[in-house]
Amino acid sequence: MDTSITFASLGLAEPLLRAVHDAGYTHPTPIQAQAIPRVLEGGDLLAAAQTGTGKTAGFTLPILHYLIQNPATSRQPGRPRVLVLTPTRELTAQVEESVRLYGRHTQIRSMVMFGGVNINPQITALRKPLDILVATPGRLLDHAQQKTLDLSGVEILVLDEADRMLDMGFIHDIRRVLRLLPAKRQNLLFSATFSDEIRGLAQGILHNPGEVSVARRNTTSELVSQRMVMTEQSHKRDLLSHIIRESGWHQVLVFTRTKHGANRLAEKLAKDGLTAAAIHGNKSQAARTKALAGFKDGKVAVLVATDIAARGLDIDQLPQVVNFELPNVPEDYVHRIGRTGRAGSTGSALSLVDQTEIKLLRAIERLTKQTIEPIVVEGWNPAAMVTGDSAPDAREKRALARLQGDLPAGRGGRRDAGTGREGHRPGQRDGQRPASAERRTGQDPRRGNARPQGARSGRDTGATSSGAPRRDTRPRTGQSSALLHKAD
Ligand code: AMP
Repeated sequence: MDTSITFASLGLAEPLLRAVHDAGYTHPTPIQAQAIPRVLEGGDLLAAAQTGTGKTAGFTLPILHYLIQNPATSRQPGRPRVLVLTPTRELTAQVEESVRLYGRHTQIRSMVMFGGVNINPQITALRKPLDILVATPGRLLDHAQQKTLDLSGVEILVLDEADRMLDMGFIHDIRRVLRLLPAKRQNLLFSATFSDEIRGLAQGILHNPGEVSVARRNTTSELVSQRMVMTEQSHKRDLLSHIIRESGWHQVLVFTRTKHGANRLAEKLAKDGLTAAAIHGNKSQAARTKALAGFKDGKVAVLVATDIAARGLDIDQLPQVVNFELPNVPEDYVHRIGRTGRAGSTGSALSLVDQTEIKLLRAIERLTKQTIEPIVVEGWNPAAMVTGDSAPDAREKRALARLQGDLPAGRGGRRDAGTGREGHRPGQRDGQRPASAERRTGQDPRRGNARPQGARSGRDTGATSSGAPRRDTRPRTGQSSALLHKAD
């Protein structure tokens, strides 16, 4: 981050500087430093930025500045001056939350609009004057058709996460929306990836755009440590439960491929005593909002989500992301792990990989040009899981804990990988830990333990259900860093 650039030096109006200060931001992120001046100039913008880079403030702040500097002569109900289109309800709500956050010292009015909820409260809200509308395309078109919304006054259009909108099949809706807008307007297009389709869309919408980019195409943040553990599909649920419990992870976002899988996994984790919730498209908006709020304020330790539901979730400093299954599309891996390591903080992404997913793993590594580090999980004993004993003794651990024998050829996966390994070495007593995986990968080990109790099962409070003391009496602090070991 270039610390010589400040929000004040970007020329933003005083009420916005105050809001940014209230939010605790000291300096603009790179996307903000590049995008804000361009948007303030009034030109079109094509921005390559993933969620987590600070892109929302990158367009919200200059738009608010524009509205402050150019107040409407008469604000009309249901006739926004700025339209932000996003792919999902969650992202819509979060972008509008940012508008409110950064616009809190102004009189600017915003509204959020998405489908899956009763349309009538939205119709009522549209009877009030409105500056910024943040919407998903489908519901927006419903309102336009019912003439409860007038898009002829739009001066600035933002397409946020445009790549995702195309993935979700919104192209026709977007084109229909475009036909309802005045020809003369400023256009901003944000996308994490740049396919030919996105370039085509951009060409049709943007005029002589400035281009800003903060991450190379399909790159992952260097601040995220990426690791994987080989396991059988049938062991994944127990393994994940073990890792979360033993590491004391208090805020972990877990990705599954299917809605059904998300539900089943959340149920299993809850059965194991973890606080878990699933979030996906079949859930009502109220249920999704509740799960997200619980996750944000620490009541829910594990949020299990499908790709689409998780898209754009704005969760500050999420320390852990788990891929319960690898995504079919390698780009989705980049999106998923973009949930962590945000805005300069470090994070960790762990993938549970079975033999059938090795091809997907390789495709991800090719795309990101990074190797995902294979690791073993200390204390993981699939055999004991079958008997319900998840706390094997030290001898069992040494004999059974290492899964790297399952690793594919060429990934350093032989059972006796020779010297230099940093796993639980024979003869090493509990409590004598090797250097932490997080330290090697640059993660602050404090992060995983800030609120360990939030993720604990009753078993982890130091007593078994029968009241007997735990067999494993290691201190719980620092567990997160010691549990996962490098496999090579
Ligand atoms: P976004 O990429 O817009 O989803 O933003 C990611 C996260 O970064 C959000 O949680 C913001 O609150 C945070 N953020 C945005 N701008 C800054 C900044 N200049 N400094 C620190 N954090 C920021």
